[in-house]
Amino acid sequence: ATPVAIMVGTGKGAENGILIKSAESLELAHKVCTVVLDKTGTITEGKPSITDIVTFGFMTKMDLLTLAASLEKNSEHPLARAILEYAEDWAMPINSVENFMAISGYGVSGKIKGKIFYGGNLRLLKEKSIFQDAFAKEGEKFAKQGKTPLYFFDDHTLLGIIAVADVVKPNSKMAIDSLVKSGIEVIMLTGDNQSTAKAIQSIVGVPKVIAEVLPQDKEKVIRDLQAEGKVVAMVGDGINDAPALTRADVGIAIGAGTDIAVESADIVLMKNDLLDVVNAIALSKAVIKNIK
Ligand code: ADP
Ligand code: MG
Repeated sequence: ATPVAIMVGTGKGAENGILIKSAESLELAHKVCTVVLDKTGTITEGKPSITDIVTFGFMTKMDLLTLAASLEKNSEHPLARAILEYAEDWAMPINSVENFMAISGYGVSGKIKGKIFYGGNLRLLKEKSIFQDAFAKEGEKFAKQGKTPLYFFDDHTLLGIIAVADVVKPNSKMAIDSLVKSGIEVIMLTGDNQSTAKAIQSIVGVPKVIAEVLPQDKEKVIRDLQAEGKVVAMVGDGINDAPALTRADVGIAIGAGTDIAVESADIVLMKNDLLDVVNAIALSKAVIKNIK
């Protein structure tokens, strides 16, 4: 495309909330054969809230929420925000935490009154050798409903499960349908567990899901697709999407996403709407076809 065509295309994009940061990506987008979509914050709103609370042993719901909010207070994860908002709404007491650790792709840990506690997924439960089939079964019930179960435990046993759910954005299904119809391979990529991902898959009709991917492995998924000769677009919003956004042939960030995601992307969707992925590809086609 000519520089003028690129300029016109970039202007058209900007008018419609599609910020094109690299001219190269505008020329490349029409060649995309695979679109990889992050789940939380990209397909879903990324504003999860608590739906269910289950406790075990002597724990009360109040105790569990206090523990969860204390642990998550120092975490920047959207899941942590869900717990803290709830704790604030119900004015739950919060304890001070020492040795806080965010374990990327697993959860959090910290000491309260000298005792260590954990909050996270089944992977973390396994890592700390607390895993039991009965525990997994309990959490799995929530996962099958598309909720994310967060397990809270100490060095000996599971204390409770807090299920958190996030709503799908209104246009996600329409955008995915449209991409699929135009012959593009569409994949959902998430760090969340398999069952939760499957439940969301059935809502939005995304043909393929890659779940339980550690933050540092998202970029490798993109690289592997490229090794198959595919031109790949990645759409994401989180810190953990940034390397994949950089690696992708066309990196697309959700405007409301984290700074690092926006910085790593070639295109930014200011309306946070996946239909604009379809529109960006169409814009690229128009730029290449009409105004050579
Ligand atoms: P994603 O943003 O795609 O869910 P992450 O890698 O950030 O991927 O998280 C993967 C999983 O790790 C989460 O679904 C959750 O089960 C667990 N996790 C991460 N951070 C936390 C946290 N602060 N508290 C509890 N669980 C967490
Ligand atoms: Mg995300």
